[in-house]
Amino acid sequence: MQYDIIIVTGEVFFDHPLSGAAIIKRLLEKYGYLVGIIETPSCEEDIKELGKPVLFFGVTSGCTDSMLRNFTPLKKLRVEDVNQKHFSSCPNRAVIVFSNWIRRHFKDSIMVLGGTEASLRRFVHYDYWDNKLRKPILFDTRADILAYGNAEKQVLEIAKRIKEKKSLVGIEGTAIIAKKIPKDAKLIPSFQEVNESKEKFCDMQNLLSSKVTLAQQIDNRYVIQFASPSYTPKDLDEYYSLDFSRDVPKELRGFQFSVVTHRGCIGNCSFCAVNLIQSDTIVSRSEESILKEIKKITNHSQFRGAIDDLGGPSANMYGMDCNLCNQECIDCNKLNKDRWLNLLRKARKLAKIYIKSGVRYDLLTEEQTKEILEHHTFDTLKIAPEHVSKNILKLMNKDKGNLQEFIKGKSKLSYYFIMCHPGSTTKEAKELADAVKKLRCKEGVQLFTPTPMTISTCMYYTGMNPKTKEEVYVPYTYKEKKEQKRMILGHY
Ligand code: SF4
Repeated sequence: MQYDIIIVTGEVFFDHPLSGAAIIKRLLEKYGYLVGIIETPSCEEDIKELGKPVLFFGVTSGCTDSMLRNFTPLKKLRVEDVNQKHFSSCPNRAVIVFSNWIRRHFKDSIMVLGGTEASLRRFVHYDYWDNKLRKPILFDTRADILAYGNAEKQVLEIAKRIKEKKSLVGIEGTAIIAKKIPKDAKLIPSFQEVNESKEKFCDMQNLLSSKVTLAQQIDNRYVIQFASPSYTPKDLDEYYSLDFSRDVPKELRGFQFSVVTHRGCIGNCSFCAVNLIQSDTIVSRSEESILKEIKKITNHSQFRGAIDDLGGPSANMYGMDCNLCNQECIDCNKLNKDRWLNLLRKARKLAKIYIKSGVRYDLLTEEQTKEILEHHTFDTLKIAPEHVSKNILKLMNKDKGNLQEFIKGKSKLSYYFIMCHPGSTTKEAKELADAVKKLRCKEGVQLFTPTPMTISTCMYYTGMNPKTKEEVYVPYTYKEKKEQKRMILGHY
């Protein structure tokens, strides 16, 4: 049997809507393609396991970035967790390693990159682990094309064009290497320019967007990113109603019966790149499609009586779809805050519904907060204030909420905080330490890791706020990070 498409993934494959590879596989099968999976190949030989595909190889590290999976924020190799088989044995820079294995054995096969690791390296980027700028990943992999973001539409179009022997140039939501730049492309600072000037690196950061076609010169060629296609509620309804078995590795049992309600996030937090992977606008599934999925889950043989999570990047942004203008939505009074509550009220008539995804507490109404705590909180309601210092919250672009006001009179809350974010001097670390002590929550405090393409990573690399070009203090040294960690967590 020869597969049309073979997907090589850096994690154990599980047939579930939370797995990007599973959605792509199921969707391609729905459109008549035969799809094979090579999961966690541990050596070059494994890449030959299913032979040569008729159309193309798809390469992904999986849901998470292999460098984040393999290293701690202080660049220590993570100890392999035998209980986390799902996450084990993935090489560093998995997408590059797998691609070079494929290129060695299948010289003329078409190779399509996808997933978070590749998407966030589609342009020149600061690599924290090498502490230097790296070229776009297409140059390291010799792949033909990169489909960034969730990429369902892109992958179907790529398969169709290869089948019809048509060019792969110009597909929305993809990136390629080219000798010329398209007329409508916006040129961003080149590899050479950003290497020579941190100001230019900031200019590049400010121009990054998935809504426009961008071009970046790398030596004598260009990486071209074609603007992302727009996804609609109808598209999401189609993808999430595919017939997943929901068989998951045991360490993911807590999310086995999770339902995705929307994509995108209007938060635009500086340390996050969801806006360059999904979108900075919300696309919500129809209520009907979500309720139908919940009904279906309640008939699943392993169903244990509760929907594990009903969410998205931020659960309470469901229904906030709006494209009336290009302003920042996060504090706009036109945001629809009723659709989410209406959905929850209908959903909890079908089953017990938990919300384990984080919520934006600064968007919650009192009515929503009351109902979530009363009906939908598994153990605690997870909120992510990230910091308490006004200066840091401003740099994080997360300074809209009033945490002290919100937590008044509430008990079942748990918090996510980030230590050592750019801007963090001992003063800010002390402020956070006091807050963490008062809130008695240590479980959600993590060290900032500069991941590719985020504004905070640009601050980390350049020591400047790209929006204002003002200098930003950055705790760089291992010793200083350890010291701030000790101040906040009371241990190294
Ligand atoms: S009207 Fe408000 S919610 Fe809608 S797009 Fe504009 S800023 Fe966003």
